[in-house]
Amino acid sequence: MFTESVEKLASILKNGGIVIFPTETVYGIGALATNTDACLKIYSIKNRPSDNPLIVHFADKSEIEKYCEVSAIAKVLLDEFSPGPLTLVLKKKSDSLFSCGLSTVAVRIPDHAEARKLISLSGPIAAPSANPSGKPSYTKMEDVLEEFSGKVDGFLKATEPSYSMESTVLDLSQGKVSLLRTGSIDRRMIETRLGIQVKVHESSEIISPGMKYRHYAPNGKIFISKILPSVQAIQSKHYIVSNHLENSMDKSIPKIARIGFTMSDISNFDKIVFHNLEYMKSLYKFLLDCDKANIEIIYCQEPKDGEHADTIWDRLRKASSA
Ligand code: AMP
Ligand code: MG
Repeated sequence: MFTESVEKLASILKNGGIVIFPTETVYGIGALATNTDACLKIYSIKNRPSDNPLIVHFADKSEIEKYCEVSAIAKVLLDEFSPGPLTLVLKKKSDSLFSCGLSTVAVRIPDHAEARKLISLSGPIAAPSANPSGKPSYTKMEDVLEEFSGKVDGFLKATEPSYSMESTVLDLSQGKVSLLRTGSIDRRMIETRLGIQVKVHESSEIISPGMKYRHYAPNGKIFISKILPSVQAIQSKHYIVSNHLENSMDKSIPKIARIGFTMSDISNFDKIVFHNLEYMKSLYKFLLDCDKANIEIIYCQEPKDGEHADTIWDRLRKASSA
């Protein structure tokens, strides 16, 4: 069912169904967070590793307090950034919430009127991003419909995501503030509000189950470069490399796409952005379009220093890692 009716979708959720809905970050695939069987269905639909917990979406702060321990720092952050693209990992107070067997739960209040209306009618919704596990997150309704039609019970037709990037995830459950995932909210904004440095997790130390899985990867191979080479330069480089390695006489030229701030030439699949914010917002759609066009070689320009650079770097590194 593809509908604008939050009432219809809330009743699907209450009956154990799975729905896809937009938030201000990306599209989510949701189940009622108090229905374990429904939450488990999300794992099979997305092919999500079973130990990777889901973010639970709430309509307001008082609902979070019913289910979780909200520390003084959590209160400050909720007051400043909620509703909005900040997820907090808190200690769980109630066993009724699905948490993948953990004593903590990741919570967020989306800054998206229709999504919040849906949650207020259904109750807390556990929802990871609506994309096959490991692939870039979806930011457009046409793409989620194409991927998930026939696999879920309903789609909410509402305002498209504005950030087009996942939420920033902070762990507050260990008595300190640590950044588990960079995202729509820049780390510096959180540090400014709290007046302390936020600890960024060491990559060797896995606190968040999602950290150990491959993410955001398109089918083509990603190259990150300071300056974007011309199409011709890329073609000759990869043509020579593949011929050399495979000792082949195959003269096929790879399909190429680029994203970045400056290009000396422009081809159909290229995306020019003007600043980091636009880069962050365009990245997933660009990678998905690359897959649709069977692009084999993808060149991404390094982000500029400053706001959102950490998040773009994080996604580019993960998307390019084998
Ligand atoms: P997504 O899959 O896009 O919804 O991202 C959710 C992220 O939050 C994943 O990286 C999860 O591993 C992480 N996460 C969710 N719940 C917890 C939790 N209780 N503790 C630590 N990380 C969590
Ligand atoms: Mg995801």
